[in-house]
Amino acid sequence: MSVLGYIEDVYAEICRRNPTESEFHQAVAEVLHSLAPALHAHPEYLESRIIERLCEPERQIVFRIPWVDDHGDVRVNRGFRVEFSSALGPYKGGLRFHPSVNLGIVKFLGFEQIFKNALTGMAIGGGKGGADFDPKGRSDGEVMRFCQSFMTELHRHLGERTDVPAGDIGVGSREIGFLFGQYKRITNRFEAGVLTGKPVAWGGSHVRTEATGYGAVYFAQEMLATRGKTLDGRRAVVSGSGNVAVYAIEKVQALGGSVVACSDSSGYVVDENGIDLDLLKEVKEIRRARLSAYVEARPTARFSDRGTVFDVPCDVALPCATQNELGEQDAVALVKNGVLAVAEGANMPCTPEAVGIFREADVLFGPGKAANAGGVATSALEMRQNASRDQWTFAETEDRLATVMRQIHAQSRAAAETYGGAPDDYVLGANITGFLRVAEAMTAHGIV
Ligand code: NDP
Repeated sequence: MSVLGYIEDVYAEICRRNPTESEFHQAVAEVLHSLAPALHAHPEYLESRIIERLCEPERQIVFRIPWVDDHGDVRVNRGFRVEFSSALGPYKGGLRFHPSVNLGIVKFLGFEQIFKNALTGMAIGGGKGGADFDPKGRSDGEVMRFCQSFMTELHRHLGERTDVPAGDIGVGSREIGFLFGQYKRITNRFEAGVLTGKPVAWGGSHVRTEATGYGAVYFAQEMLATRGKTLDGRRAVVSGSGNVAVYAIEKVQALGGSVVACSDSSGYVVDENGIDLDLLKEVKEIRRARLSAYVEARPTARFSDRGTVFDVPCDVALPCATQNELGEQDAVALVKNGVLAVAEGANMPCTPEAVGIFREADVLFGPGKAANAGGVATSALEMRQNASRDQWTFAETEDRLATVMRQIHAQSRAAAETYGGAPDDYVLGANITGFLRVAEAMTAHGIV
């Protein structure tokens, strides 16, 4: 059978065995469609069924999370941890608390994480988890009780050499603190390396908070440089206004660009003077308010809940909110307005149709598993500091992050060319680079 026929068969079987997991199908399709040239070069991977093994998580944990709200009412949520691949190191990937979380979403995120983590060149496997819990509008006490109940079950599956979660949507330093506290209490161990994204004051790494957003901007900068361009003086739009978005905005501004729009799930703000980051942080991080509160404090800006943030003309777009947020119509609008580069700060924010439109229009496109790998890379640096009971300075850590992002960019280009694509086919290059690292380790470990 031809390699392409084999890939189609494997994909059809994955869809059949995992019905209703549309995001997982989408993530698998993107990776498998990149792998034909790598499988031609390594026919032994067909025989050892590496692809089928990679697409089946090593372990999936689904559990009940009972907790009591502030009114004394009992609530029940569902928790997930998908331990996808330990070929390169302990399972590593964040926890997402959002009402939309289900097994298919956690599996797509965990699957992406395998290749992303491999791309960093660090010794980390792939996993992801979360719960269908909505922290919005919940008191600190409720969030704490929820996190404690979540960790009471999950702790038995974790360990600094086994599985190391971090944050994601809805899980920031407050939640990581509650989760760590409960883990410490149950195990009677101050095992700092069991969670990353900890505050710097008690075992966290400098730059971890900033790393995903900063890294995505470094990646955009590297892509632009291949065409002799920089971020200086460019207009950018960023979707989202959470952890990734805020630090992407900060870095674009530091490099001389102007971010004129950002969003949350209620709409978007356009501020032609450039987003005021202090104000944005106060609205979203301290007051945990809706984005419309930004324009109440800054009347020259405007808020809209019609269309999307990608309707705002820009040179660079950084989708940093959630999966499939940037569709065909958005891509058409961006291309029409002359966008030069799109770098995914979020995981799979662009639909396959949107990615096709960018490629056709020769827009530089950095897929999430390459462009947002700075977060997990810095988590791996946090684990390294925890293991050696050391703490590096902000400047030293940021330097290492920048080096990792440059390497991911260069290696993705090189792999794309080696395997017959254009050097700026970063989807092809990132998928093949990540896959070959994992496949080599899996082969060495035998059929396990
Ligand atoms: P946060 O929870 O800090 O922020 C998420 C932002 O996205 C908020 O502005 C939120 O708006 C918006 N958002 C979330 N869900 C939706 C939705 N369904 N529709 C529209 N807007 C939505 O999360 P992060 O910044 O940590 O994560 C953002 C993305 O980056 C995710 O895709 C995540 O997987 C990815 N990522 C994160 C990493 C990290 O280190 N944190 C690492 C690598 C990738 P609202 O406040 O209204 O909900």
